[in-house]
Amino acid sequence: MKDEGNSAKRYGARYGKRIRNKVSEVEKDQKSNHECPECGFLSLKREAKGIWKCKKCGNKIAGGAWRPKTKGKSMVQRVLEKAGEE
Ligand SMILES: [Zn+2]
Repeated sequence: MKDEGNSAKRYGARYGKRIRNKVSEVEKDQKSNHECPECGFLSLKREAKGIWKCKKCGNKIAGGAWRPKTKGKSMVQRVLEKAGEE
């Protein structure tokens, strides 16, 4: 039947935009370099899922699957803190 084949598509249409945004955000994150917690250079590259390696000092860290957990606080938290300081 037609409907059977379309059910997945309909589901995708409802959530597609949000997921696509999230995916592109993650992909951008994966491709960009991250700051190495050891040497401070933006040389941290994703080597494997959950493993990040610094090209500068060779430091290897286990982090998130899609981005290194080099910063304990989220961007929002940091911005709020900074706003409070000033
Ligand atoms: Zn480093």
